[in-house]
Amino acid sequence: MASEPSYRHFSQQMSARILVVDDEPRLVSSLAALLCGYGYDATEAYGGKHACKLIDSQHFDLALLDLRMPDVDGFTVMAHLEHLQPECGTIVISGESSFTAVSRALRRGALDYIRKPFDPEELIATVKGVVGKQSLVKSHEDIQGRLEKSEALHRYIVNSSPDIVFMLQADGRFCFINSKIESLLGYQPAELCGRHFRHLLDDRDVAKGIYALNAPDISADNPRTLEMRLKTRGSRKATRYFEITAFPIDPQTWTPSGDAQGGGSGRNASYYGTARDVTERKEAEAFINFQAYHDLLTRLPNRALFKDRVELAITHASREKQKLAVMFLDLDRFKIINDTLGHAMGDQLLQAVTQRLERCLRKGDTLSRFGGDEFTLLLPCVHGQEDASQIARKLIKTLKAPFVLGKHEVFVGVSIGIAIYPDAGKSMDQLIQNADIAMYHVKVRGKDSYRFFSESMSIHSTHRLHLERDLRLALKRGELRVFYQPQVCANTNRIVGLEALVRWQHPERGLLYPRDFLGLAEETKLISQLSEQVLDQACKDVGRWIRSGHTNLRLAVNLSPIEVEHPRFVETLIERINANRFPAGNLEIEITENVIMNDLEKISQTLRELADQGVRIAIDDFGTGYSSLNYLHRLPIHTLKVDQSFVKAIRGGVDDACIVNAIVAMAHGLKLEIVAEGVETKDQLQYLRTLGCQQVQGFFYGPAQPAADISKLLTQPSVRVALPG
Ligand code: C2E
Ligand code: MG
Ligand code: MG
Repeated sequence: MASEPSYRHFSQQMSARILVVDDEPRLVSSLAALLCGYGYDATEAYGGKHACKLIDSQHFDLALLDLRMPDVDGFTVMAHLEHLQPECGTIVISGESSFTAVSRALRRGALDYIRKPFDPEELIATVKGVVGKQSLVKSHEDIQGRLEKSEALHRYIVNSSPDIVFMLQADGRFCFINSKIESLLGYQPAELCGRHFRHLLDDRDVAKGIYALNAPDISADNPRTLEMRLKTRGSRKATRYFEITAFPIDPQTWTPSGDAQGGGSGRNASYYGTARDVTERKEAEAFINFQAYHDLLTRLPNRALFKDRVELAITHASREKQKLAVMFLDLDRFKIINDTLGHAMGDQLLQAVTQRLERCLRKGDTLSRFGGDEFTLLLPCVHGQEDASQIARKLIKTLKAPFVLGKHEVFVGVSIGIAIYPDAGKSMDQLIQNADIAMYHVKVRGKDSYRFFSESMSIHSTHRLHLERDLRLALKRGELRVFYQPQVCANTNRIVGLEALVRWQHPERGLLYPRDFLGLAEETKLISQLSEQVLDQACKDVGRWIRSGHTNLRLAVNLSPIEVEHPRFVETLIERINANRFPAGNLEIEITENVIMNDLEKISQTLRELADQGVRIAIDDFGTGYSSLNYLHRLPIHTLKVDQSFVKAIRGGVDDACIVNAIVAMAHGLKLEIVAEGVETKDQLQYLRTLGCQQVQGFFYGPAQPAADISKLLTQPSVRVALPG
């Protein structure tokens, strides 16, 4: 390789094309012959004019030029040559002794001069020198050109690299960085040169980055590759992920030299590195990872992640001799909302519920969506039941306020079962299962509450299967009974109505109350059969009493939300009372506020249809649900039944009874009838009387009794009261 330029140099020198110009033809010929003898390619020009002509059509490396010629002088030829073939050199041949002409020619670019008469050897030596110099310049220019091209190519390769390419000084400052940094992170290469690389690293990765570069075994053959976050310019927070490979530069393989523009010179470089943007891959990985362990709708951990966290928490708790709580949450009434308002609304509701639940949690607690409308919650460090109760109460409370979904306002409750480690189970599966069992017990006993798992519950859950089988049999065998509780006029003590309350005459367990089986009936959808039987029986019994003279006697029946929300509810109800020839005007249905709030639009239509048929509507347990005064005047409601809890609050003190006062006053204002439930004492009765509450119901007048006992009661002019004491 090294010999190539000198060889070219030699061959160029030998074949140099030389134009010999003089007005004296003999001199031209002898000069040309001399040059040819030395291997040059000589062309003869007789005078300046001839020379210019030749210059127009041929290429020359050198001209031997006489200055003084009669037609066109040497200076004109020089100018012409300069114009057309600037790379062609000139040696002036001058007969003149005048120094001025020669020095003028040299100033104009002549490379040398020979004085006439000349010594051939001297002439050849001069020509040789000039041609040699000329070809050296040329090959230098050639190399320079190739270097520039090569430099441009490498610069292009480095700057077009999809990765950031950089060099660092031994102290960690950038001494070169390619322009890729601008499109990826927004920095100008020039502004980074001289700055330490840690300014680019996300704060969390600085220590890692510095350690990696100083690792003892790092070398060109063993480069270090690390994933790190780099900061984007102008935003302290925005980072992108890079896979950075760096190694120390071996001085044997690269000695920095020269200057480069833009991204720094790379001089003093001790490290070389590349940084590949892997943000998209990282994000995809993170998403896949997230998807595997989270529920996409609520973005909560899923069942798998939850179980994993519980396992970890158990290990920790057992080592530290601590307790932990696992809660199983099931939304009440979610299915009804989902079925009636559609899945999109159901999804929205789940998201809104999640947000509210999350607000009740502490750092370190794990809330997960277990599936459908079930959530699980891990409280990793609790002191005992009281801690867990507190959270459970908070969770229940936070879901109490209505949820607004589009133009609907809906209410959900939550039933919570709690299992405390280690009392309620030592393994993850046991804890979750037992929390589920405890939750189930809440569901059966009225919902929207919480319970701790106890051993007796697991026995209960097997009982539940038996109970379900028994209930199916009971419906077939007619084991259900209807008891009636009198609703009495507070002033006259006369029975004005009867509330039908279901009982189950269980062949082995004796008389069962609604709380023992109603939840199960609702869940297993046996409730509609149960209601049908109760309604039929009640229509028969009360219809008989009406026909025997108690024409105004009112029959009050309770209805479950599931029934009221059934699309064929009105039709079936009217069918049943017609089949029993029961006068619709004597029937009052009792529904709870929660049923109404579920879907106000739909329920108001249902109730209106019923009211049009003459059926009366009562709000049961008024004041305990999501009391919204808004619906009271929009719906065809006839009666408010004040819940027992408010009646119980009447103990003499005026403050205790303030809710009853308010409800009664409001009912009067809205011209609604009012029935006070759960009246047990004379004082309560007295108080209600003074408020102007017309009708009461409760143990004071008697519990629910079988039809035969009611028949007897009805024959009496007023309910005889056996006052305690
Ligand atoms: P409810 O409609 O609020 O019925 C009043 C409950 O209070 C009845 O309990 C009744 O026996 C009880 N009670 C009445 N007076 C007093 C009193 O002075 N003191 C106390 N402590 N309690 C009193 P029961 O029969 O156990 O019924 C409980 C609930 O089960 C009812 O509450 C009602 O919501 C539901 N239910 C009863 N029968 C049926 C039915 O046939 N169908 C439906 N869907 N639900 C029913
Ligand atoms: Mg009732
Ligand atoms: Mg009630």
